[in-house]
Amino acid sequence: MNTPASGDAAVIHGPWHDAQAQLTEAVAHLKCAPGLHEMLAMPRRELQVAVPLRRDDGTTAVFSGYRVQHNFSRGPTKGGLRFSTAVDLDEVRALAMWMTWKCALVDVPYGGAKGGVAIEPRDHSAAELERVTRRYTSEILPVIGPDTDIPAPDIGTDENTMAWIMDTYSVAKGHTVPGVVTGKPIALGGSLGRAGATSRGVAHIAMMAMSSKGIEPEGATASVQGFGKVGRGAARLLAEAGVRVLAVSDVDGAIFDGDGLDITRLGAHVDRTGSVVGFDDTESIHPGSLLTLDVDVVVPAAVEGVITAQNAADIRARIVVEGANGPTTQEADAILTDRGVLVVPDILANAGGVIVSYFEWVQSNQAYQWREREVNDRLEEKMTDAWRDVVDYAGAHGLTYRQAATALAVRRVLEAHELRGLYP
Ligand code: NAD
Repeated sequence: MNTPASGDAAVIHGPWHDAQAQLTEAVAHLKCAPGLHEMLAMPRRELQVAVPLRRDDGTTAVFSGYRVQHNFSRGPTKGGLRFSTAVDLDEVRALAMWMTWKCALVDVPYGGAKGGVAIEPRDHSAAELERVTRRYTSEILPVIGPDTDIPAPDIGTDENTMAWIMDTYSVAKGHTVPGVVTGKPIALGGSLGRAGATSRGVAHIAMMAMSSKGIEPEGATASVQGFGKVGRGAARLLAEAGVRVLAVSDVDGAIFDGDGLDITRLGAHVDRTGSVVGFDDTESIHPGSLLTLDVDVVVPAAVEGVITAQNAADIRARIVVEGANGPTTQEADAILTDRGVLVVPDILANAGGVIVSYFEWVQSNQAYQWREREVNDRLEEKMTDAWRDVVDYAGAHGLTYRQAATALAVRRVLEAHELRGLYP
Protein backbone atom coordinates (compact mmCIF):
# COMPACT_ATOMS: atom_id res chain seq x y z
CA MET A 1 0.00 0.00 0.00
CA ASN A 2 1.43 3.33 -1.13
CA THR A 3 0.67 5.56 1.84
CA PRO A 4 3.10 7.72 3.80
CA ALA A 5 1.18 6.59 6.90
CA SER A 6 2.21 3.02 6.20
CA GLY A 7 5.84 4.04 5.82
CA ASP A 8 6.20 3.86 2.01
CA ALA A 9 8.17 6.93 0.94
CA ALA A 10 7.71 6.24 -2.80
CA VAL A 11 4.96 8.85 -3.29
CA ILE A 12 6.73 12.18 -2.98
CA HIS A 13 4.52 14.41 -5.09
CA GLY A 14 1.19 14.37 -6.90
CA PRO A 15 -2.40 14.33 -5.67
CA TRP A 16 -2.01 11.23 -3.48
CA HIS A 17 0.93 12.86 -1.70
CA ASP A 18 -1.10 16.07 -1.23
CA ALA A 19 -4.14 14.18 0.08
CA GLN A 20 -1.99 12.25 2.56
CA ALA A 21 -0.23 15.43 3.73
CA GLN A 22 -3.60 17.11 4.36
CA LEU A 23 -4.81 14.08 6.33
CA THR A 24 -1.59 14.03 8.37
CA GLU A 25 -2.14 17.68 9.36
CA ALA A 26 -5.77 17.02 10.28
CA VAL A 27 -5.03 13.99 12.47
CA ALA A 28 -2.21 15.89 14.20
CA HIS A 29 -4.62 18.75 14.95
CA LEU A 30 -7.27 16.30 16.18
CA LYS A 31 -4.67 14.35 18.20
CA CYS A 32 -5.96 11.17 16.67
CA ALA A 33 -4.40 7.77 17.47
CA PRO A 34 -1.82 6.43 14.94
CA GLY A 35 -3.95 3.34 14.20
CA LEU A 36 -6.91 5.50 13.22
CA HIS A 37 -4.64 7.65 11.05
CA GLU A 38 -3.41 4.54 9.29
CA MET A 39 -6.98 3.34 8.77
CA LEU A 40 -8.01 6.66 7.18
CA ALA A 41 -4.83 6.81 5.07
CA MET A 42 -5.66 3.51 3.38
CA PRO A 43 -8.57 3.09 0.94
CA ARG A 44 -10.93 0.33 2.04
CA ARG A 45 -11.23 -1.21 -1.45
CA GLU A 46 -9.37 -0.81 -4.72
CA LEU A 47 -10.38 -2.51 -7.92
CA GLN A 48 -8.21 -2.35 -11.02
CA VAL A 49 -9.63 -3.76 -14.23
CA ALA A 50 -8.62 -4.17 -17.87
CA VAL A 51 -11.21 -2.68 -20.22
CA PRO A 52 -10.97 -4.17 -23.72
CA LEU A 53 -12.66 -2.20 -26.50
CA ARG A 54 -13.68 -3.41 -29.95
CA ARG A 55 -12.93 -0.31 -32.02
CA ASP A 56 -15.14 0.85 -34.89
CA ASP A 57 -12.49 -0.40 -37.36
CA GLY A 58 -12.63 -3.92 -35.88
CA THR A 59 -9.30 -3.76 -33.99
CA THR A 60 -9.03 -4.19 -30.22
CA ALA A 61 -7.60 -1.71 -27.71
CA VAL A 62 -7.29 -2.23 -23.94
CA PHE A 63 -7.52 0.48 -21.28
CA SER A 64 -6.83 0.43 -17.53
CA GLY A 65 -9.83 1.13 -15.31
CA TYR A 66 -10.09 1.74 -11.58
CA ARG A 67 -12.65 2.09 -8.82
CA VAL A 68 -11.41 3.06 -5.36
CA GLN A 69 -13.69 3.18 -2.31
CA HIS A 70 -11.94 5.13 0.40
CA ASN A 71 -14.25 4.95 3.43
CA PHE A 72 -17.72 3.56 4.24
CA SER A 73 -18.19 4.76 7.84
CA ARG A 74 -20.89 7.33 7.05
CA GLY A 75 -22.73 5.42 4.32
CA PRO A 76 -22.41 4.02 0.80
CA THR A 77 -19.54 5.47 -1.20
CA LYS A 78 -20.00 8.20 -3.79
CA GLY A 79 -17.74 9.73 -6.39
CA GLY A 80 -17.24 10.59 -10.02
CA LEU A 81 -15.93 8.61 -12.97
CA ARG A 82 -13.10 10.22 -14.95
CA PHE A 83 -12.06 9.46 -18.54
CA SER A 84 -8.58 10.89 -19.08
CA THR A 85 -5.17 9.58 -20.09
CA ALA A 86 -3.79 11.12 -16.87
CA VAL A 87 -5.83 8.67 -14.76
CA ASP A 88 -3.78 6.27 -12.62
CA LEU A 89 -4.31 4.45 -9.34
CA ASP A 90 -2.73 7.14 -7.15
CA GLU A 91 -4.85 9.89 -8.72
CA VAL A 92 -8.03 7.87 -8.18
CA ARG A 93 -7.02 7.14 -4.57
CA ALA A 94 -6.53 10.85 -3.86
CA LEU A 95 -9.83 11.79 -5.47
CA ALA A 96 -11.61 9.05 -3.46
CA MET A 97 -10.14 10.32 -0.18
CA TRP A 98 -11.17 13.90 -0.98
CA MET A 99 -14.70 12.63 -1.69
CA THR A 100 -14.86 11.14 1.83
CA TRP A 101 -13.97 14.52 3.36
CA LYS A 102 -16.30 16.43 1.02
CA CYS A 103 -19.32 14.27 1.83
CA ALA A 104 -18.63 14.54 5.56
CA LEU A 105 -18.04 18.30 5.40
CA VAL A 106 -21.36 19.06 3.70
CA ASP A 107 -23.02 16.35 5.77
CA VAL A 108 -24.40 14.02 3.11
CA PRO A 109 -24.62 10.36 4.22
CA TYR A 110 -21.83 8.93 2.07
CA GLY A 111 -18.24 7.83 2.14
CA GLY A 112 -15.90 8.68 -0.72
CA ALA A 113 -15.06 6.80 -3.92
CA LYS A 114 -13.72 7.60 -7.38
CA GLY A 115 -13.34 5.80 -10.66
CA GLY A 116 -11.37 6.31 -13.81
CA VAL A 117 -10.47 4.89 -17.17
CA ALA A 118 -7.14 5.90 -18.75
CA ILE A 119 -8.63 6.90 -22.10
CA GLU A 120 -8.78 10.15 -24.11
CA PRO A 121 -12.50 10.49 -24.90
CA ARG A 122 -11.87 12.94 -27.74
CA ASP A 123 -10.12 10.14 -29.67
CA HIS A 124 -13.22 7.91 -29.70
CA SER A 125 -16.64 7.86 -31.35
CA ALA A 126 -19.80 7.88 -29.23
CA ALA A 127 -20.26 4.18 -30.05
CA GLU A 128 -16.75 3.34 -28.78
CA LEU A 129 -17.30 5.39 -25.60
CA GLU A 130 -20.55 3.53 -25.02
CA ARG A 131 -18.80 0.14 -25.37
CA VAL A 132 -15.95 1.21 -23.06
CA THR A 133 -18.41 2.49 -20.46
CA ARG A 134 -20.54 -0.66 -20.57
CA ARG A 135 -17.51 -2.97 -20.34
CA TYR A 136 -15.98 -0.93 -17.48
CA THR A 137 -19.35 -1.02 -15.71
CA SER A 138 -19.66 -4.77 -16.07
CA GLU A 139 -16.10 -5.20 -14.71
CA ILE A 140 -16.82 -3.09 -11.58
CA LEU A 141 -20.44 -4.28 -11.24
CA PRO A 142 -19.79 -6.40 -8.12
CA VAL A 143 -18.74 -3.33 -6.11
CA ILE A 144 -21.28 -0.68 -7.23
CA GLY A 145 -24.99 -0.27 -6.50
CA PRO A 146 -27.47 2.22 -5.03
CA ASP A 147 -26.66 1.04 -1.48
CA THR A 148 -22.96 0.38 -2.09
CA ASP A 149 -21.20 2.84 -4.38
CA ILE A 150 -22.82 5.40 -6.68
CA PRO A 151 -20.81 6.87 -9.62
CA ALA A 152 -21.37 10.36 -11.15
CA PRO A 153 -19.83 12.40 -13.99
CA ASP A 154 -16.33 13.91 -13.74
CA ILE A 155 -13.68 14.95 -16.28
CA GLY A 156 -14.42 13.46 -19.70
CA THR A 157 -17.77 11.86 -18.76
CA ASP A 158 -21.32 13.21 -18.85
CA GLU A 159 -24.99 12.32 -18.49
CA ASN A 160 -24.81 9.89 -21.44
CA THR A 161 -22.06 7.97 -19.65
CA MET A 162 -24.32 7.76 -16.59
CA ALA A 163 -27.26 6.53 -18.71
CA TRP A 164 -25.06 3.68 -20.11
CA ILE A 165 -23.86 2.74 -16.60
CA MET A 166 -27.44 2.72 -15.31
CA ASP A 167 -28.63 0.60 -18.22
CA THR A 168 -25.75 -1.91 -17.98
CA TYR A 169 -26.26 -2.30 -14.23
CA SER A 170 -30.04 -2.59 -14.64
CA VAL A 171 -29.75 -5.25 -17.36
CA ALA A 172 -27.48 -7.30 -15.09
CA LYS A 173 -29.94 -7.00 -12.19
CA GLY A 174 -33.00 -7.70 -14.34
CA HIS A 175 -34.82 -4.52 -13.35
CA THR A 176 -34.28 -0.76 -13.66
CA VAL A 177 -32.14 0.72 -10.90
CA PRO A 178 -32.04 4.54 -11.32
CA GLY A 179 -30.28 5.08 -7.97
CA VAL A 180 -27.05 3.39 -9.09
CA VAL A 181 -25.75 6.65 -10.64
CA THR A 182 -26.33 10.37 -10.31
CA GLY A 183 -25.89 13.05 -12.93
CA LYS A 184 -28.08 11.03 -15.31
CA PRO A 185 -30.48 12.57 -17.86
CA ILE A 186 -33.68 14.09 -16.42
CA ALA A 187 -35.74 11.69 -18.54
CA LEU A 188 -34.17 8.76 -16.65
CA GLY A 189 -34.74 10.18 -13.16
CA GLY A 190 -31.97 12.78 -13.07
CA SER A 191 -32.50 15.77 -10.81
CA LEU A 192 -33.42 19.21 -12.03
CA GLY A 193 -30.48 21.45 -11.14
CA ARG A 194 -27.85 18.66 -11.08
CA ALA A 195 -26.10 19.63 -14.32
CA GLY A 196 -25.29 23.11 -13.03
CA ALA A 197 -24.97 22.24 -9.34
CA THR A 198 -21.18 22.22 -8.99
CA SER A 199 -20.89 25.54 -10.83
CA ARG A 200 -23.71 27.04 -8.79
CA GLY A 201 -21.97 26.00 -5.58
CA VAL A 202 -18.62 27.36 -6.79
CA ALA A 203 -20.19 30.72 -7.67
CA HIS A 204 -22.12 30.86 -4.39
CA ILE A 205 -18.95 30.19 -2.37
CA ALA A 206 -16.98 32.71 -4.47
CA MET A 207 -19.60 35.36 -3.59
CA MET A 208 -19.33 34.55 0.12
CA ALA A 209 -15.53 34.64 -0.05
CA MET A 210 -15.60 38.00 -1.86
CA SER A 211 -18.06 39.39 0.66
CA SER A 212 -15.79 38.24 3.53
CA LYS A 213 -12.98 40.30 1.96
CA GLY A 214 -15.22 43.33 1.33
CA ILE A 215 -15.15 42.82 -2.47
CA GLU A 216 -18.38 43.76 -4.32
CA PRO A 217 -19.15 41.57 -7.36
CA GLU A 218 -19.82 44.69 -9.46
CA GLY A 219 -16.31 45.88 -10.24
CA ALA A 220 -14.64 42.61 -9.30
CA THR A 221 -12.64 40.54 -11.80
CA ALA A 222 -11.98 36.82 -12.19
CA SER A 223 -10.22 34.24 -14.32
CA VAL A 224 -11.41 30.66 -14.78
CA GLN A 225 -9.22 27.71 -15.78
CA GLY A 226 -11.21 24.96 -17.54
CA PHE A 227 -14.40 25.57 -19.50
CA GLY A 228 -16.14 22.23 -18.98
CA LYS A 229 -19.06 21.21 -16.78
CA VAL A 230 -17.71 23.16 -13.79
CA GLY A 231 -15.76 26.10 -15.25
CA ARG A 232 -18.29 27.11 -17.88
CA GLY A 233 -21.22 27.38 -15.48
CA ALA A 234 -19.10 29.07 -12.81
CA ALA A 235 -17.91 31.68 -15.33
CA ARG A 236 -21.49 32.32 -16.47
CA LEU A 237 -22.86 32.68 -12.93
CA LEU A 238 -20.00 34.98 -11.88
CA ALA A 239 -20.62 37.14 -14.97
CA GLU A 240 -24.37 37.21 -14.22
CA ALA A 241 -23.53 38.47 -10.72
CA GLY A 242 -21.59 41.38 -12.24
CA VAL A 243 -18.05 39.98 -12.00
CA ARG A 244 -15.94 40.67 -15.11
CA VAL A 245 -14.43 37.34 -16.20
CA LEU A 246 -11.26 38.49 -17.95
CA ALA A 247 -9.82 35.13 -18.99
CA VAL A 248 -10.80 31.49 -19.42
CA SER A 249 -8.93 28.46 -20.72
CA ASP A 250 -9.35 24.88 -21.78
CA VAL A 251 -6.97 22.11 -22.73
CA ASP A 252 -6.33 23.81 -26.11
CA GLY A 253 -5.41 27.31 -24.86
CA ALA A 254 -6.43 30.48 -23.01
CA ILE A 255 -8.18 33.71 -24.06
CA PHE A 256 -8.27 37.20 -22.49
CA ASP A 257 -10.50 40.26 -22.78
CA GLY A 258 -9.73 43.22 -20.49
CA ASP A 259 -13.37 44.38 -20.65
CA GLY A 260 -14.70 41.00 -19.54
CA LEU A 261 -15.72 38.07 -21.73
CA ASP A 262 -19.29 37.61 -22.96
CA ILE A 263 -19.72 34.13 -21.47
CA THR A 264 -23.02 33.38 -23.24
CA ARG A 265 -21.56 34.12 -26.66
CA LEU A 266 -18.38 32.25 -25.70
CA GLY A 267 -20.51 29.22 -24.80
CA ALA A 268 -22.07 29.29 -28.28
CA HIS A 269 -18.56 29.51 -29.81
CA VAL A 270 -17.44 26.46 -27.76
CA ASP A 271 -20.55 24.51 -28.80
CA ARG A 272 -19.70 25.27 -32.42
CA THR A 273 -15.92 24.76 -32.41
CA GLY A 274 -15.18 22.58 -29.38
CA SER A 275 -12.78 25.08 -27.78
CA VAL A 276 -12.55 28.58 -26.27
CA VAL A 277 -9.61 29.30 -28.59
CA GLY A 278 -10.32 31.73 -31.44
CA PHE A 279 -13.29 33.46 -29.79
CA ASP A 280 -14.01 36.86 -31.43
CA ASP A 281 -12.07 39.94 -30.31
CA THR A 282 -10.06 38.18 -27.63
CA GLU A 283 -6.36 37.94 -27.09
CA SER A 284 -4.65 34.54 -26.91
CA ILE A 285 -2.58 34.25 -23.73
CA HIS A 286 -0.28 31.58 -22.34
CA PRO A 287 -2.51 29.12 -20.43
CA GLY A 288 -0.24 29.23 -17.37
CA SER A 289 -0.47 33.02 -17.14
CA LEU A 290 -4.24 32.84 -16.57
CA LEU A 291 -3.57 31.82 -12.98
CA THR A 292 -1.29 34.78 -12.27
CA LEU A 293 -3.41 37.55 -13.84
CA ASP A 294 -4.20 40.65 -11.81
CA VAL A 295 -7.76 39.65 -10.88
CA ASP A 296 -9.65 39.45 -7.59
CA VAL A 297 -10.62 35.77 -7.88
CA VAL A 298 -8.98 32.83 -9.63
CA VAL A 299 -11.10 29.72 -10.19
CA PRO A 300 -9.03 26.68 -11.20
CA ALA A 301 -11.71 24.33 -12.60
CA ALA A 302 -9.73 21.81 -14.67
CA VAL A 303 -7.18 19.40 -13.20
CA GLU A 304 -4.96 18.78 -10.13
CA GLY A 305 -1.60 20.32 -9.35
CA VAL A 306 -1.78 23.55 -11.36
CA ILE A 307 -0.89 25.96 -8.53
CA THR A 308 2.55 24.79 -7.47
CA ALA A 309 5.67 25.95 -5.62
CA GLN A 310 6.79 27.36 -9.00
CA ASN A 311 3.89 29.79 -9.58
CA ALA A 312 2.28 30.32 -6.13
CA ALA A 313 4.41 33.39 -5.38
CA ASP A 314 3.16 34.96 -8.64
CA ILE A 315 -0.57 34.59 -7.93
CA ARG A 316 -1.96 38.11 -7.70
CA ALA A 317 -5.58 37.27 -6.87
CA ARG A 318 -6.75 37.76 -3.29
CA ILE A 319 -8.99 34.69 -3.48
CA VAL A 320 -8.57 31.22 -5.02
CA VAL A 321 -11.80 29.21 -5.27
CA GLU A 322 -10.99 25.58 -6.06
CA GLY A 323 -13.57 24.43 -8.59
CA ALA A 324 -11.29 21.51 -9.50
CA ASN A 325 -10.21 18.80 -7.07
CA GLY A 326 -6.66 19.22 -5.81
CA PRO A 327 -5.55 22.15 -8.00
CA THR A 328 -3.19 23.51 -5.30
CA THR A 329 -0.21 21.43 -4.19
CA GLN A 330 0.67 21.19 -0.50
CA GLU A 331 3.77 23.35 -1.04
CA ALA A 332 1.82 26.02 -2.95
CA ASP A 333 -0.85 26.06 -0.27
CA ALA A 334 1.73 27.08 2.34
CA ILE A 335 3.09 29.84 0.07
CA LEU A 336 -0.40 31.25 -0.59
CA THR A 337 -1.23 31.17 3.12
CA ASP A 338 1.98 33.08 3.97
CA ARG A 339 1.05 35.65 1.34
CA GLY A 340 -2.44 36.12 2.78
CA VAL A 341 -4.28 34.68 -0.25
CA LEU A 342 -7.62 33.17 0.79
CA VAL A 343 -7.87 29.63 -0.61
CA VAL A 344 -11.35 28.13 -0.51
CA PRO A 345 -10.59 24.40 -0.61
CA ASP A 346 -12.05 22.00 -3.17
CA ILE A 347 -13.92 19.92 -0.59
CA LEU A 348 -15.96 23.02 0.24
CA ALA A 349 -15.94 25.02 -3.01
CA ASN A 350 -16.98 22.27 -5.44
CA ALA A 351 -19.28 20.30 -3.09
CA GLY A 352 -22.42 21.52 -4.90
CA GLY A 353 -22.19 18.54 -7.26
CA VAL A 354 -22.27 15.89 -4.58
CA ILE A 355 -24.94 17.76 -2.62
CA VAL A 356 -27.33 17.69 -5.58
CA SER A 357 -26.19 14.15 -6.42
CA TYR A 358 -27.44 13.26 -2.94
CA PHE A 359 -30.75 15.02 -3.71
CA GLU A 360 -30.93 13.08 -6.99
CA TRP A 361 -30.28 9.76 -5.22
CA VAL A 362 -33.04 10.53 -2.70
CA GLN A 363 -35.43 11.40 -5.55
CA SER A 364 -34.43 8.28 -7.57
CA ASN A 365 -34.89 5.98 -4.59
CA GLN A 366 -38.32 7.51 -3.91
CA ALA A 367 -39.31 7.78 -7.61
CA TYR A 368 -40.28 11.40 -7.04
CA GLN A 369 -39.07 14.66 -8.57
CA TRP A 370 -38.46 17.92 -6.73
CA ARG A 371 -38.84 21.33 -8.37
CA GLU A 372 -35.65 23.07 -9.55
CA ARG A 373 -36.17 26.00 -7.19
CA GLU A 374 -36.37 23.56 -4.25
CA VAL A 375 -33.13 21.85 -5.35
CA ASN A 376 -31.26 25.15 -5.77
CA ASP A 377 -32.50 26.56 -2.43
CA ARG A 378 -31.47 23.42 -0.55
CA LEU A 379 -28.11 23.42 -2.32
CA GLU A 380 -27.36 27.01 -1.30
CA GLU A 381 -28.49 26.32 2.27
CA LYS A 382 -26.11 23.36 2.60
CA MET A 383 -23.21 25.27 1.02
CA THR A 384 -23.81 28.24 3.32
CA ASP A 385 -23.92 25.98 6.40
CA ALA A 386 -20.65 24.31 5.40
CA TRP A 387 -19.00 27.68 4.68
CA ARG A 388 -20.00 28.97 8.15
CA ASP A 389 -18.76 25.76 9.82
CA VAL A 390 -15.38 26.13 8.11
CA VAL A 391 -15.02 29.88 8.78
CA ASP A 392 -15.96 29.43 12.46
CA TYR A 393 -13.68 26.42 13.00
CA ALA A 394 -10.75 28.10 11.22
CA GLY A 395 -11.23 31.23 13.35
CA ALA A 396 -11.55 29.27 16.60
CA HIS A 397 -8.44 27.14 15.99
CA GLY A 398 -6.19 29.46 13.95
CA LEU A 399 -6.31 27.20 10.88
CA THR A 400 -6.52 27.83 7.13
CA TYR A 401 -9.86 27.07 5.51
CA ARG A 402 -8.41 23.87 4.04
CA GLN A 403 -7.07 22.72 7.39
CA ALA A 404 -10.38 23.56 9.08
CA ALA A 405 -12.49 21.86 6.40
CA THR A 406 -10.36 18.70 6.47
CA ALA A 407 -10.28 18.57 10.28
CA LEU A 408 -14.06 19.00 10.53
CA ALA A 409 -14.60 16.26 7.95
CA VAL A 410 -12.10 13.83 9.50
CA ARG A 411 -13.68 14.39 12.90
CA ARG A 412 -17.13 13.51 11.52
CA VAL A 413 -15.83 10.34 9.84
CA LEU A 414 -14.07 9.28 13.05
CA GLU A 415 -17.20 9.95 15.07
CA ALA A 416 -19.19 7.61 12.79
CA HIS A 417 -16.42 5.02 12.96
CA GLU A 418 -16.31 5.14 16.75
CA LEU A 419 -20.09 4.88 17.08
CA ARG A 420 -20.16 1.81 14.82
CA GLY A 421 -17.10 0.24 16.40
CA LEU A 422 -14.48 -1.88 14.72
CA TYR A 423 -15.65 -5.29 13.46
CA PRO A 424 -15.09 -7.92 14.83
P1 NAD B 1 -14.95 18.48 -17.92
O1 NAD B 1 -14.34 17.32 -18.60
O2 NAD B 1 -16.37 18.79 -18.15
O3 NAD B 1 -14.11 19.81 -18.22
C1 NAD B 1 -12.73 19.91 -17.98
C2 NAD B 1 -12.25 21.21 -18.61
O4 NAD B 1 -10.87 21.40 -18.25
C3 NAD B 1 -12.30 21.22 -20.13
O5 NAD B 1 -12.61 22.53 -20.57
C4 NAD B 1 -10.88 20.84 -20.53
O6 NAD B 1 -10.53 21.29 -21.82
C5 NAD B 1 -10.12 21.57 -19.46
N1 NAD B 1 -8.77 21.07 -19.22
C6 NAD B 1 -8.36 19.79 -19.12
N2 NAD B 1 -7.05 19.75 -18.88
C7 NAD B 1 -6.65 21.04 -18.79
C8 NAD B 1 -5.41 21.66 -18.55
N3 NAD B 1 -4.30 20.94 -18.33
N4 NAD B 1 -5.36 23.03 -18.53
C9 NAD B 1 -6.48 23.75 -18.73
N5 NAD B 1 -7.68 23.22 -18.96
C10 NAD B 1 -7.75 21.88 -19.01
O7 NAD B 1 -14.68 18.23 -16.35
P2 NAD B 1 -15.45 18.89 -15.12
O8 NAD B 1 -16.54 17.98 -14.70
O9 NAD B 1 -15.74 20.33 -15.40
O10 NAD B 1 -14.33 18.77 -13.98
C11 NAD B 1 -13.36 19.78 -13.77
C12 NAD B 1 -12.80 19.65 -12.37
O11 NAD B 1 -13.88 19.81 -11.42
C13 NAD B 1 -12.18 18.29 -12.03
O12 NAD B 1 -11.13 18.50 -11.10
C14 NAD B 1 -13.31 17.55 -11.34
O13 NAD B 1 -12.85 16.51 -10.51
C15 NAD B 1 -13.91 18.69 -10.55
N6 NAD B 1 -15.28 18.46 -10.11
C16 NAD B 1 -16.28 18.18 -11.00
C17 NAD B 1 -17.58 18.01 -10.55
C18 NAD B 1 -18.73 17.76 -11.49
O14 NAD B 1 -19.87 17.75 -11.01
N7 NAD B 1 -18.51 17.62 -12.76
C19 NAD B 1 -17.85 18.09 -9.17
C20 NAD B 1 -16.83 18.38 -8.29
C21 NAD B 1 -15.55 18.58 -8.78
